[in-house]
Amino acid sequence: MLIYLDGHFVAKEQALVSVFDHGFLYGDGIYETMRAYGGTLFLLKKHLSRLKRSADAIALKLPLPINKIGDALIESLNVNKLREAYVRLHISRGPGEIGLDPALCPAPTMVIVTRPFHDYPAEYYECGVAAAIVKTRRNHPLALPPSVKATNFLNNILAKIETIKAGAFEGIMLNWEGHVAEGTISNIFMAKKGVLYTPHPDTGILEGVTRDLVLRLAKKKKLPVKEILLLPRSLYAADECFITNTTMEIMPVTKIGKKAVGNGKPGPITATLLQAYKKEVLACLKTQAS
Ligand code: PLP
Repeated sequence: MLIYLDGHFVAKEQALVSVFDHGFLYGDGIYETMRAYGGTLFLLKKHLSRLKRSADAIALKLPLPINKIGDALIESLNVNKLREAYVRLHISRGPGEIGLDPALCPAPTMVIVTRPFHDYPAEYYECGVAAAIVKTRRNHPLALPPSVKATNFLNNILAKIETIKAGAFEGIMLNWEGHVAEGTISNIFMAKKGVLYTPHPDTGILEGVTRDLVLRLAKKKKLPVKEILLLPRSLYAADECFITNTTMEIMPVTKIGKKAVGNGKPGPITATLLQAYKKEVLACLKTQAS
């Protein structure tokens, strides 16, 4: 496996970063997780736009123009001869003296890790997974905006520790007011009486690239969609629930805490959207090929 590190491809063992990198010292950095299907990076432009927004939000100057970052991502896939892949792009503040001032770090560190994509077990999609509402609250947007895809992940890791203790697949975090925000690594949707609901961006969430596509697909399918301030009690009363992210696409949730969601099986709206998502992936591959 060859890792992209600051303009060079190096073996995994040689992909080493300074202990003075502020990414290591302070969790000062941003990242994107992407998925390649048939050698094509799905929704690459959307990921790159979010990367730029994240960089701007933390006053980080990207080491390369955005189109060159795109080229490096594609090259990473090619040198590793990967078609179905997990791709992680990581840009940290870079090495510098100890201290919080970003000016101490003249050059950011850019890393791209690619590896073969391993599908989640089919039964997760066939039967759904369990989620649990955790006690750890999502960061307040005025403290560390969840809209920034930051490598600083302790908030989510604390939630993950609770999730594991609860024996659940994903932990659902509430915001500072007790509204449903998002999963530790996913966005959340629920359906009730034929209407699709998801937390409004004002809740304080990372607006997932997958969330955005699901919203567009739902509108295309003429499904009523509402972005709202979602209460946990509404989530418990949902007919259907699912979580989304780049790697899992649309994953049905059939249990929240001790309670079954709806009839305890993945529902028809979830199935329709997952099918539409897969079609969109195929359409994207065809466009790239033509
Ligand atoms: N919310 C959080 C906290 C995440 O970490 C992620 C993905 O890692 C998402 C939502 C979903 O984002 P995307 O659909 O862009 O993968």
